[in-house]
Amino acid sequence: MRRVIFSLFLFAFSTMFAAAQQYDLVLEGGRVMDPETGLDAVRNVGIRDGKIVRVSSEALSGRRVVHASGLVVAPGFIDLHQHGQELESQRVKALDGVTTALEMEIGVPDVAQFLKAKEGHSLIHYGTAASHAAARALVFGAPLSASGSSTRAGIPEILPKSGPATDQPATPDQIEAIRERLRAELDAGGLAIGMGIQYTPGATRLEVIDMFRLAAERRLPVYTHVRSSGRIEPGSSIESISEVIGAAAITGAALHIVHINSSCTRDSLECLSLVEGARARGLDVTTEAYPYIAGMTSINSALFNPGWREEMGIDYSELVLPDTGEHLTKERFDELHNSPTTHWVLIFSNTQEMVDKVIPHPLVMIASDGAEGHPRNAGTYARVLAQYVREKGTLTLMDALRKMTLMPAQMLERSMPAARLKGRLQEGADADIVVFDANTIGDRSTFQKPMEPSVGVRYLVVGGTVVVDEGKIVPDVFPGRALMGLGKRSASHN
Ligand SMILES: [Zn+2]
Repeated sequence: MRRVIFSLFLFAFSTMFAAAQQYDLVLEGGRVMDPETGLDAVRNVGIRDGKIVRVSSEALSGRRVVHASGLVVAPGFIDLHQHGQELESQRVKALDGVTTALEMEIGVPDVAQFLKAKEGHSLIHYGTAASHAAARALVFGAPLSASGSSTRAGIPEILPKSGPATDQPATPDQIEAIRERLRAELDAGGLAIGMGIQYTPGATRLEVIDMFRLAAERRLPVYTHVRSSGRIEPGSSIESISEVIGAAAITGAALHIVHINSSCTRDSLECLSLVEGARARGLDVTTEAYPYIAGMTSINSALFNPGWREEMGIDYSELVLPDTGEHLTKERFDELHNSPTTHWVLIFSNTQEMVDKVIPHPLVMIASDGAEGHPRNAGTYARVLAQYVREKGTLTLMDALRKMTLMPAQMLERSMPAARLKGRLQEGADADIVVFDANTIGDRSTFQKPMEPSVGVRYLVVGGTVVVDEGKIVPDVFPGRALMGLGKRSASHN
């Protein structure tokens, strides 16, 4: 009898214990929004083992319960285009609502080394494309540094300096060597082929098509910064968008055109109509933009090869050094362009009016192109929510979230099927979640103070771990995991 009572007691105790511990974390009473299903209602979210297990209007119990009433609970933002992969940038991304930030435009010089260096040291999820520009530089005997330059130690070089490796055409043997290097980089976990065609102007149309052919063989997409952002022919942005859409049509590779706002500037709506036309013909072409009128790049890159002023329709004074705010003159430009040290420069080439038309466009995802020195690194997502949803009213909150979560996750599904579990606030999805105050969320980063974090993100959950708690970064947690392309060697046999 005593034994029975004891067993009953144990049973009751363990049931109670199980109920109290049912979830690791519960987000209680928030406005849960999921762009895929259209759910927009007050719900409780139960998280266990890094997954969203329950989305319900019933009360849920957990080891920790976060009261989210009055706050939006949405999938964490997925930034397909983030260059600043170091911890300082990850912190401001987290406070901007980002749970995954990928270097997809160009890619790092060494995929395996990048993934190894970040393992266990990453606040948010990370991943990279295999870099055509870096493979080309390697084949031309001018390799980029995977561990960074002396001035930017630990930050991989992604852009080659202007020279033979960027400006000369490759021989057929060199093209094959570039493809061989890219195959190895994809085997190492590259999510796509990243091309910055404007940074390798020596690459012929055929070299570009050959890279798309390799992507198609691996059933992976090409992410590209197109050949030119000019407004006159030859070399117009219209021509360069047509080039990559043509390559996608010829090869069957999916294509993602990065920052259509800065590649097409005042012709962005025309460029968007080209993407729209390609999609209407059944091609897999997508694009993205960031909500700022200035771009930023390396001043000794091939983007500033002779003729850039005529081509881009801008002058020296529209180039500004991010750290000092200095507007350049011809003399100062020549000095920095010829310097062996990499200097970043802001390019004021777009208008607010155009950016305001591009961001709400239904085909445009939000992606930051972030790196230290430009406010887009810290402020892109909160800025869209503040300016376009709250102030201008040109986007609904759900549509803005779709551009930041579901659309990039669907793009990522071309590289890894497991991305079906990202960008969704649904049972079974990965517990990458942002909890924010829609009334106060906003960017604070400026061209003068580019690393000021956004406000309004109250909680951020990465793979079930809280990394932003009551608006503050939690110290010493690194739940970020690598996103990688899978089984690439065998992909061609499927
Ligand atoms: Zn770019």
